Amino acid sequence: MLEYQAKKDLLNNKTILVTGAGDGIGRSAAITFAKHGATVILLGRTVKKLEAVYDEIEQAGYPKPAIVPLDLKGASEQNYKDMADTIEEQFGHLDGLLHNASLLGILGPFEQISMSSIEDVMQVNVYAKIMMTKALLPVMKKAPNASILFTSSSVGRKSRAFWGEYSLSKFATEGLMQLLAHEYEDTAIRVNTINPGSTRTEMRATAYPAEDPQTLKTPEDIMPAYLYLMGDDANGVTGQQINAQ
Ligand code: NDP
Repeated sequence: MLEYQAKKDLLNNKTILVTGAGDGIGRSAAITFAKHGATVILLGRTVKKLEAVYDEIEQAGYPKPAIVPLDLKGASEQNYKDMADTIEEQFGHLDGLLHNASLLGILGPFEQISMSSIEDVMQVNVYAKIMMTKALLPVMKKAPNASILFTSSSVGRKSRAFWGEYSLSKFATEGLMQLLAHEYEDTAIRVNTINPGSTRTEMRATAYPAEDPQTLKTPEDIMPAYLYLMGDDANGVTGQQINAQ
């Protein structure tokens, strides 16, 4: 997927919501989508980081973004419904939804899984995605074509020792994608997952503290897969497990 070349105006007139837009892959995706013409809705929990991304997009002269400060750990169904109403009022419809924010949780042996930690991981990585998608589907149905995209992981497709909390949440993410892709297969809504592969971010550095980050692809490097699945070149592509690298 690294070789896909997006047209400069690929995402013109599209409104795309990105979760975890303040840092890492989500930050890069938000800026890249804006660069290709999209109005991006920046969702995250650290307002300062979202504001920095907002400023960067505005200073570059890309379409003016919007900010939604929301902590996915504590958000309720009502919060998502209110957000969907605001999006409908302001933009009429939503063309793209990138579920990217995730927690790594604690790495360690299965027998030592902490129930409070895995509950947080499931809340942010799974239940928040279910609630947000449920709330946003009505406004996505109003788009001519819509893309729901989940940032998954290799351990969401094949599990690995000591990655229990995170891996199980990513298996649920892959399952959610498959469920939605099947349920909406006769509609203009496509649903896919991306495994970014090892990417130079805070989360990766936390998981692999001894690794030299300079050996890894940057979030910018892996953007072709995100652009492809968000743009109309991927109309009709659904239920796919894509590797960004
Ligand atoms: P980062 O930790 O750099 O970014 C994660 C983003 O998610 C941050 O902006 C963070 O906000 C946000 N976030 C976390 N918890 C919440 C919450 N409760 N509410 C709202 N926002 C939240 O990680 P990456 O960029 O590496 O990860 C992005 C995605 O890619 C994740 O789904 C991850 O699982 C996946 N991934 C990454 C890989 C890698 O090698 N980097 C490999 C495989 C998958 P804040 O900035 O405020 O902390």
